[in-house]
Amino acid sequence: MQGVFSKIIAGQIPSYKVFEDENCYAFLDINPNAVGHTLCVTKKEVDKIFDLLDQDYNYLMQFSRKVAVAIQKAIPCRRGGMSVIGLEVPHVHVHLIPLNAMEDATFQKKVSLTPSEFQATATKIQEYL
Ligand code: AMP
Repeated sequence: MQGVFSKIIAGQIPSYKVFEDENCYAFLDINPNAVGHTLCVTKKEVDKIFDLLDQDYNYLMQFSRKVAVAIQKAIPCRRGGMSVIGLEVPHVHVHLIPLNAMEDATFQKKVSLTPSEFQATATKIQEYL
């Protein structure tokens, strides 16, 4: 059975898409640590990141760096943060998080955005991709 991220990639569940290529899909996290918090997902539904084939792992990292560079241009921040957790959704994804303080990386403090704020954030990041 398809998981939630595969349904997002297939367009069966809506998302605030940031970027996509043949192997990966980037969209805004719906419960963000900070404005601009983006998930980069492999289109292949593999559970754990270190189970990826070398080439798929390397591809995801390069894809994530491209998106991270755009996020940092679109969203002023002190650092571009990157985390891999996967405790909630068993489909490989990289969290890209604009960081201004350590708490932005803890997944404890969350920000809430309206649908139009989510869309404006995705559009702004897209301008740099
Ligand atoms: P984890 O698997 O622990 O890395 O966490 C999964 C992340 O996916 C969480 O930060 C969720 O907020 C996010 N998430 C879950 N469902 C959706 C969705 N439908 N759209 C966007 N983000 C989601």
